[in-house]
Amino acid sequence: MTEKYDVIVIGGGPAGYVAAIRAAQMGFNTLCIDRFKNKQDQYALGGTCLNIGCIPSKALLDSSKHYAHMTQHYDVHGIAFDNPSIDVATMIGRKDKIVKQLTGGIAQLFKANKVKYKAGSGKLLQDRQVEISNEEGTEVVQGEHIILASGSVPVNIPNVEVDNQYILDNAGGLNVDQVPEKLGVIGAGVIGLELGSVWGRLGAEVTVFEAMDTFLAACDQTIAKMAAREFKKQGLDIHLSTFVKSATVKDGKVEVVYEKGGEKTTATFDKLLVAVGRKAETSGLLSEDCGVKLTDRGQIEVNDDCQTSVPNVWAVGDAVRGPMLAHKASEEGSAVVERIAGQHGHVDFNTIPWVIYTEPEIAWVGKTEEQLKEAGVEYKVGTFPMAANGRALAMNESTGMVKILADKETDELLGAHIYSANASEMLSECVVAMEFKGCAEDLARIVHAHPTLSEAVFEAAMNVDKRAIHKAN
Ligand code: FAD
Ligand code: NAD
Repeated sequence: MTEKYDVIVIGGGPAGYVAAIRAAQMGFNTLCIDRFKNKQDQYALGGTCLNIGCIPSKALLDSSKHYAHMTQHYDVHGIAFDNPSIDVATMIGRKDKIVKQLTGGIAQLFKANKVKYKAGSGKLLQDRQVEISNEEGTEVVQGEHIILASGSVPVNIPNVEVDNQYILDNAGGLNVDQVPEKLGVIGAGVIGLELGSVWGRLGAEVTVFEAMDTFLAACDQTIAKMAAREFKKQGLDIHLSTFVKSATVKDGKVEVVYEKGGEKTTATFDKLLVAVGRKAETSGLLSEDCGVKLTDRGQIEVNDDCQTSVPNVWAVGDAVRGPMLAHKASEEGSAVVERIAGQHGHVDFNTIPWVIYTEPEIAWVGKTEEQLKEAGVEYKVGTFPMAANGRALAMNESTGMVKILADKETDELLGAHIYSANASEMLSECVVAMEFKGCAEDLARIVHAHPTLSEAVFEAAMNVDKRAIHKAN
């Protein structure tokens, strides 16, 4: 007999596993199907984020940050080492252990919440039936509601064939077995900068090829310009307006031909990382007659409530429009389940935080100054340099700034941009303030502990009305 579920979720990444747990918490009989296999060829929950994305990249960023501090920054503290070294196998092993702990944790959470999990590939058929295939065979299950949470995969470019030995994709960039002497990176986006930083900190000579003429175009350009200078100091050689034409593996090296200003140049690297964006994953997900439509960009078409073109079939996370971020994916997963339960789940795209986990970290929420100008919104700006923040100086991490944007008339917060150590954590108070439709003055009237990095947010908020204490206004 066909098994029946209230909710079937296809995909066990941050969108899918959160949706499944939330559904079970709300009393729905829930099944989650996922086909991801880790490098040991075992099925693992957690999707891109836990297995080959957010968590492993942050583990490597942290290991490499310790090494960089040891080799470059500890001398000012009077701390000296004889011959510091990095054992890449241990670093990768630590990362794999964290991944295993977290992905195993999802399986435990499924058990605790009574979410049924089936490992295998899920395909949506007509009438909310789902076919599940794995090594053991094929079965068909029936859902009252289906949530498609199939995530994303890396984009490839012509004439650059990923082999994950010399030419690496996102996952390959997390599993290099020794520090390459020369690393080429295609794409100065989030992955290129994060993974470029990891291997750069460990001693690789890193060259980044970026097609756009603007560095970090999505970011506030005051911060992007500051970050560009800092990356240069850190040794990342970033070439804008540069197009990679081909990459060929020859005698254990990668030969890259790139074009800049009409001129073609050849460069040779030990490894080449391809990080030119990700695209929605829908392979094998939809039968031809299931009725779910895709957009012209290949994403699953949804309305503002994440409903697809088929009633009771929903889609969330990287597979649909909007930023490809784990927290956006999870929030959509929860919101959809709440809608299924007749509640009013809602995700405000304007208050989704963005973080690039480089050093310093780049974090923002809301609008950039460029976006406000383009939209013709009148605004006020408050800034504060980390160099004038006592805690940042005490930590020897005083590079960066905070920039707050507020409506000229109403003082409502429109954007917050932080370039600082721990910016990812500092940003949260700005997100809360924006979610509550707060003003710059609200941030400026909250007592901030002293000495903390977050006092820079407080001072930047005061500087909006030109009354910062620790800088000339
Ligand atoms: P995914 O995590 O991709 O999960 C989808 C799952 O569905 C996968 O397990 C897939 O195998 C499975 N699946 C697909 N099709 C089927 C099918 N037909 N049947 C069964 N299973 C299927 N985001 C952040 O917010 N912060 C970060 O720091 C961050 N760092 C990142 C670093 C890297 C290197 C990468 C690559 C990404 C990073 N991201 C980060 C992005 C983040 O990983 C994604 O936004 C997030 O994983 C999206 O969640 P999702 O559930 O929509 O999709
Ligand atoms: P991205 O969109 O951030 O950056 C890709 C970059 O590659 C862009 O700057 C683009 O202009 C450039 N590019 C595209 N084609 C090119 C070409 N042919 N030659 C040279 N440059 C080219 O994409 P990504 O870095 O691959 O990351 C994918 C997704 O994963 C992102 O959307 C991001 O949201 C998510 N992610 C998030 C985090 C985080 O939140 N910290 C970390 C990693 C990844």
